[in-house]
Amino acid sequence: MDILAIVVPCFNEEEMLPISSKELREKLAELVAKGKISEESFILFVDDGSKDNTWELIEKEHNEHKEVYGLKLAGNVGHQYALTAGLITAKECSDVTISIDADLQDDINVFEEMIDKYHAGNDIVYGVRNKRKTDTIFKRATAQGFYRLMNFFGAKTIYNHADFRLMSKRALDHFANYEEVNLYIRGIVPLIGYKTEKVFYDRKSRIAGESKYPLKKMLALAIEGITSFSIKPIRYITLIGFISVFCSIAAFIYALVSYFLGIVEPGWTSLIVSIWFLGGVQLISIGLIGEYIGKIYLEVKRRPRYNIETFLSK
Ligand code: UDP
Ligand code: MG
Repeated sequence: MDILAIVVPCFNEEEMLPISSKELREKLAELVAKGKISEESFILFVDDGSKDNTWELIEKEHNEHKEVYGLKLAGNVGHQYALTAGLITAKECSDVTISIDADLQDDINVFEEMIDKYHAGNDIVYGVRNKRKTDTIFKRATAQGFYRLMNFFGAKTIYNHADFRLMSKRALDHFANYEEVNLYIRGIVPLIGYKTEKVFYDRKSRIAGESKYPLKKMLALAIEGITSFSIKPIRYITLIGFISVFCSIAAFIYALVSYFLGIVEPGWTSLIVSIWFLGGVQLISIGLIGEYIGKIYLEVKRRPRYNIETFLSK
């Protein structure tokens, strides 16, 4: 029977951890009892360099319950890397993994459906949110704008799917080959291929603790997602360049015509406007190109993406 690993990245989750651990353990026991997964299945909590008591709580859970494993990263590397560290570690001692956030906003009751779909021959099963009624209007609007933007700029992502998904060992083996430092897991997983499926669920609100994804981190993730998957923004810059050149030609013709008609404009306003406009376009372009060069810089250094301090397992 297949060993399931539930991988849970945790950053300052001391309020959530005991609750999540209990719920996940109960779910795991239920799935084992139903004969869906092996008794050796486990939950892997990844401590992403938390500054609170998260790691102490993970150790405690591990000492009290044999099915709780812990992975301590040496510092805070962010959700995407923490999850990668957990998945790559878990795949060595399991057959299939499910990744879920520590706040359990995603519905653990669809685990069974995910595993059934895995047994039906799917290597990747995406958890997809039905509606977002429990998120604040602001979170919903920004998150949805984010998906639209991403798809517009070319990274193919599953709509309303975050990092709640099942992946088989062979899908993870292939995932591990994507060694990029600029990591956007949601964009990579669809590139793996194999047979995939979706399960739908309603997203709950956070029971305890606050969101570790403030707007700043969401924007960072969006920029990461777009610039690590597509060079479309650079193409648009070229387009804007052409448009502004075209506009200046039109303005030139207009100026000539008005000169010959004798309606000589003072010209200051149009001049200053175009200076600001072109200056702006140029600065944006340079900044954008800089963004890509920065990515190249980070990639060529080939730095390790995370550092594992301790691994508590069987
Ligand atoms: N997280 C992490 N490292 C970070 C920030 C967040 O491992 O630097 C984890 C966090 O503990 C949670 C998951 O990533 O398990 C998603 O964070 P959160 O639930 O706060 O995001 P939201 O649901 O608000 O988008
Ligand atoms: Mg959350």
